[in-house]
Amino acid sequence: MANQYDVVVIGSGPAGYHAAIRCAQLGFNTACIEKWLTKDDKTVYGGTCLNVGCIPSKALLDSSHKFLEAQAHFADHGIKTGKVSVDVPTMLKRKEKVVSQLTGGVAGLFKGNKVEGIAGTGKVVAKGKVEVTGHDGKTDTLEARHIIIAAGSVPIDIPPAPVDNETIVDSTGALEFTEVPKKLGIIGAGVIGLELGSVWARLGAEVTVLEALDDFLPAVDRQIAKEAMKIFTKQGLTIKLGSKVSGSKVSKGNKKSVTVEYTDSEGEQKAQFDKLIVCVGRKPATENVVDASVGVELDERGFIKVDDHCATNVEGIYAAGDAVRGPMLAHKGMEEGVMVAERLADKKTQVNYDLVPSVIYTHPEVAWVGKNEEELKEAGIDYNVGSFPFAVNGRALAANDTDGMIKLIADAKTDRILGCHIIGPSAADLLQQVVIAMEFSSSAEDLALTMFSHPALSEAVHESALALHGHAIHIANRKRRK
Ligand code: FAD
Ligand code: NAD
Repeated sequence: MANQYDVVVIGSGPAGYHAAIRCAQLGFNTACIEKWLTKDDKTVYGGTCLNVGCIPSKALLDSSHKFLEAQAHFADHGIKTGKVSVDVPTMLKRKEKVVSQLTGGVAGLFKGNKVEGIAGTGKVVAKGKVEVTGHDGKTDTLEARHIIIAAGSVPIDIPPAPVDNETIVDSTGALEFTEVPKKLGIIGAGVIGLELGSVWARLGAEVTVLEALDDFLPAVDRQIAKEAMKIFTKQGLTIKLGSKVSGSKVSKGNKKSVTVEYTDSEGEQKAQFDKLIVCVGRKPATENVVDASVGVELDERGFIKVDDHCATNVEGIYAAGDAVRGPMLAHKGMEEGVMVAERLADKKTQVNYDLVPSVIYTHPEVAWVGKNEEELKEAGIDYNVGSFPFAVNGRALAANDTDGMIKLIADAKTDRILGCHIIGPSAADLLQQVVIAMEFSSSAEDLALTMFSHPALSEAVHESALALHGHAIHIANRKRRK
């Protein structure tokens, strides 16, 4: 019968589209509802990640990195370029092309896997029933044995700096500046502030980041965060910690600017910017996605409450991705989406929440997994550390890309790897080697006994494992036992 499905997924971001495709692969008759419309009113799949998140931000990070290389670093390699200039509209067009290639790819995958994509807004109105409101306002009701909510998240607003999408923007607006702002203000020195701040700083903006906390990147290993602050400051980002924004005023007239009022340790301050990005975190997009009568429990911050397997308190209703607890990361949502699908097919799939890698895609990248020194000290766990700087890695030197270091941490008694913290070139990809090792419960010695190709950045991973036992070849060993 029409409108009857085994599984209905609400939302086609990383969590939703992975869930939908895996469900279809496992033989479930699956539909995925998506409300996202492009500026020219076309339904697109892929959610925040593909449309206004991971992918477009990385496209601009890569473009702006190439610009900076050409402008400031090609000469070191003996390459003369003359004056290099930026064409922002072309840069944005390329970004859009990458986005549409990938969103179109998801549409193709839906077709290939026989997932029915449905345009509109979905709402769970009862157990096994989802109402869809189309963009023309018409409603339809779908019946489903299982419902997966993957509604994602949206930026948090703050009253002192209301987004007007012109002078004061959120992360989406910050991906669309049509020219390089001369003076750019950013509220929030988190992942988005640092990534998008880097993009516009590389392109020539004078960037000031106002961060309310006194600590920089509190979730990051202290030594790595300190190194990151040093490097980002050297790159031209002015990061003002302990700055609490109290108000903002957008000027009138054609060429608008915004004056931001904030308080820091020295008292009340004012700063004027051409554009201001507000990126102080994101909140779950769970309002109106389930009718209250269904009884699905939300926590006090609006996250849908789920167990370790993403089941809500109502039988047959699951939730995954940014809409539920845990880090708001695309890969975490993808794994959850797949886990839900496989558990519907009676598999025992689990997500290892202890091994969610985190990456800040600045240059150098900052990447980490597992426990850091501060957490281990607090837990009273005895550990050993092996560190290795990129400054003496042959491949990093060949590429003229030597900022940063790797830090590997292992249990002092068992030698099992407990964490890895990197700031350096290709840190995301280097970290992944350690994530795999940790997934297999590797010891630091296992990594030290593994052969790594030469010359490669990954030799720094190897050397950090060697250093942990005082055997590193290319640095003086200072075995640290804590
Ligand atoms: P989303 O991607 O938010 O998708 C939810 C989808 O559900 C949306 O398409 C929405 O339209 C749809 N939806 C919501 N409600 C309904 C409804 N009622 N009916 C129908 N459809 C609905 N993460 C990383 O891991 N790496 C990165 O490099 C990274 N970079 C980022 C950069 C930026 C600028 C931003 C903003 C985020 C970034 N993230 C990154 C975070 C990442 O985008 C999110 O963690 C991820 O997209 C969450 O996936 P999701 O499927 O849970 O939700
Ligand atoms: P975030 O949580 O990373 O950082 C927000 C920062 O804003 C924090 O440092 C916080 O202390 C600060 N802050 C909060 N309120 C403030 C205020 N009133 N004034 C000044 N500072 C304030 O959030 P984000 O950068 O907005 O990113 C949102 C989410 O998107 C994150 O959860 C992140 O995981 C995800 N994301 C991930 C990536 C990636 O994986 N590379 C990239 C971008 C975004």
